Amino acid sequence: MSRQAYVNGRFAPHGEAVVHIEDRGYQLADGVYEVWAVMGGRLSDAEGHFARLERSLGELRIPMPMSRKALELVLKETLRRNRVREGLLYLQVTRGVARRDHAFPTTPVTPSLVITAKALDRQASNAKAEAGVGVITLPENRWGRCDIKTIGLLPNVLAKQAAREQGAAEAWFVDAEGLVTEGASSNAWILDRDGVLRTRDTGANILRGITRHSLLEVIAEAGVKVEERPFTPAEALEAREAFITGAGTLVTPVTSIDGRPVGNGHPGEMALRLRDLYIQHARKAGI
Ligand code: PMP
Repeated sequence: MSRQAYVNGRFAPHGEAVVHIEDRGYQLADGVYEVWAVMGGRLSDAEGHFARLERSLGELRIPMPMSRKALELVLKETLRRNRVREGLLYLQVTRGVARRDHAFPTTPVTPSLVITAKALDRQASNAKAEAGVGVITLPENRWGRCDIKTIGLLPNVLAKQAAREQGAAEAWFVDAEGLVTEGASSNAWILDRDGVLRTRDTGANILRGITRHSLLEVIAEAGVKVEERPFTPAEALEAREAFITGAGTLVTPVTSIDGRPVGNGHPGEMALRLRDLYIQHARKAGI
């Protein structure tokens, strides 16, 4: 069966699904998105992603395109039509279609809603993730509202491309104080020299990762010491382990930073254990 996308009230073959050229998402990046990991046909950490979507939209004064309950049905229907059991579910809401003007449309417009699903070979992606990835570091150059999950991702795009060109999988942004904020599409963590897990606090200019949040609960249950405290790239290089979290990467060990090995240069035991625990949690908690 061919892929189908949901666009503004109807499903269309993926290759034919289109939005208007004056959609404000297309012209102005005036919109937000969410990504759910799909495991066993269920949406992982569904509640957290819904809550963040509502918050992102609220911050931009874009109305929810439909109720949460209705949205849940459409998301599940998208999975069903695409027969996705393992993969990713992408949702995007923009302010809608209006004659081009930076300021909001003066007469209310209907927000645009696009949903797509992508299947993943979970075994292959697990094997790849478990081998660990390299990251590079770059100066933070994003705006001051990285807590909003907007589709305005140009700095993230350029950072990711720089990483790829250097043979790495992710780029960590480093702020003016020399502290790692987060990755271009993930949150950053270390297991420091004292055996304490560390990730940046959400008072900083970062996205409040849903995987990060759930993993903090998993860590608390496992009784491992954790602090929401920033670290420098130098501390990460001296750390026992480093890893990243996100709906796409789940928990993925970081084995090198700017081409230099982290710890012994192999995926860390703690990162791999947390990956297992997180996946168990996500499979249980999905809707
Ligand atoms: N930070 C950024 C900039 C991201 O794009 C993502 C991926 N959405 C994350 C962190 C991780 O967030 P989550 O765990 O909710 O996927």
